[in-house]
Amino acid sequence: MKLRLAHLYPKLMNIYGDRGNIMALRHRCEARGIEFDATELELGDKFDANAYDMAFMGGAQDVEQRRVAEDFRTVKGEPLRAAVEDGFVFFAVCGGYQLAGHYYRGFDGDELPGAGILDLHTIHPGPEAKRFIGNVVAEWNGATLVGFENHGGRTYLGAGVQPFARMVAGNGNNGDGWEGAVYRNTFGTYLHGSLLPKNPRFADHLLTLAL
Ligand code: GLN
Repeated sequence: MKLRLAHLYPKLMNIYGDRGNIMALRHRCEARGIEFDATELELGDKFDANAYDMAFMGGAQDVEQRRVAEDFRTVKGEPLRAAVEDGFVFFAVCGGYQLAGHYYRGFDGDELPGAGILDLHTIHPGPEAKRFIGNVVAEWNGATLVGFENHGGRTYLGAGVQPFARMVAGNGNNGDGWEGAVYRNTFGTYLHGSLLPKNPRFADHLLTLAL
């Protein structure tokens, strides 16, 4: 078996070591004799969902998110949105998660258009606002997830998505007790860490869906 992963904007959307998620997926495939192939897609690169089994997008500061937003919405967004409707596995962390929604209003009040894959929006209340920074414990499918959050944006879910995890310690989406979002086989989360090396059960859940 072979798992083919599209890594979206690894040079720009790779904050707090989110690349560790790719390393964990590679290890958990190869340790089981499953081939793992990661393709890096940067600004301007086309996204053909038929060429992959899943996609990953990491987090970033507002500056990098501004550089990525237009390309994510107009170049990769359409084919990715269509694939997600068909159950394609997409895993997005923090800044990537925010841009998967309808819009991200950054710390300077600038509204970045999202790819509209997840029914949510994010608002950063400004540079004076308390940043959500620290270790996180959350509950997903009866399992404990651990990670690290560092974001100013507050994310608000629409009716079209479910929360990903219930907060046990930390802030999550906006302090309302929930973290991340799930829609079909798309998962958005604020958890860095990186998440997958620290949470093998969820890592294997993604791999099972993608394979
Ligand atoms: N720049 C976004 C925020 O501050 C996302 C940060 C991140 O990806 N860690 O909310």
